[in-house]
Amino acid sequence: MRLVAFESGGRARVGVRSGEGVAPLPYEDMTALIRDGDRGLDAARQAAASGPSLQPDRLLAPLRPGKILCSGVNYASHSEENPAAVLPAEPFFFSKLPSAVIGPDEAIVIPQAHMQVDYEVELALVVGRRARRLDEESALDAIFGWTVLNDVSARDIQFKDNQITLGKNPDTFAPLGPEIVTADELGDWSTLRLRTTLNGETMQSSPTSEMLFGPGRLLAALTALITLEPGDVVTTGTPAGVGCFRDPPVWLRPGDVITVSVDRIGDLTNPVTAGW
Ligand code: MG
Repeated sequence: MRLVAFESGGRARVGVRSGEGVAPLPYEDMTALIRDGDRGLDAARQAAASGPSLQPDRLLAPLRPGKILCSGVNYASHSEENPAAVLPAEPFFFSKLPSAVIGPDEAIVIPQAHMQVDYEVELALVVGRRARRLDEESALDAIFGWTVLNDVSARDIQFKDNQITLGKNPDTFAPLGPEIVTADELGDWSTLRLRTTLNGETMQSSPTSEMLFGPGRLLAALTALITLEPGDVVTTGTPAGVGCFRDPPVWLRPGDVITVSVDRIGDLTNPVTAGW
């Protein structure tokens, strides 16, 4: 199933793709549906099969995660293009803040004119249940579904004095969506391709099979220390092709349109505007 958050008649709702439209679901938000476990999935299944479907006025970010934990260097190709990177022996994480999340077609707002803003396509997993101390082999059972995150990054801040929290978290720097594809619908995470296009030009294109640490390993490493809750999001890193390691570098500028895509999930497109 493909789950969305959307606006219809000025009201925010959640729903499931049904034919050409969306069938609304009786949940306050996506996290409430996820927390309801099998009952939430059953309600969605039933609505997708038989519920009335409508055309959303616009899609919203599919959920507002409680936590967003991001895998740092998790593709060899991304580390090879970075002269300072060392191939990690263990998964590396940082966090993005829920306040940075925006949905499809919402503007990425660059707050300061001099800022060096970059894109990163990432496959993101949505946690389905309270999870701690997962082992790598069974960790995938804790995944509710999958979506796409653009890990927008202010490189001038991130690389200056290692200010990762500030560089990764200006408002609007976490586009998420366009849908959550349930784990059963997506199937094998390792057979997907990630893509980024900037103003129609391909900037990133790599298979998820090149991940250094798979989602099971990432979840095992995280939950050894941090309890994950339903609706938390974990991202899996970005491959080669980001703007900062190009010669000359490529920075997002007002007027640009950036699309990050993952096979079988969808395209997440956002315009870029000036916030100064
Ligand atoms: Mg990233």
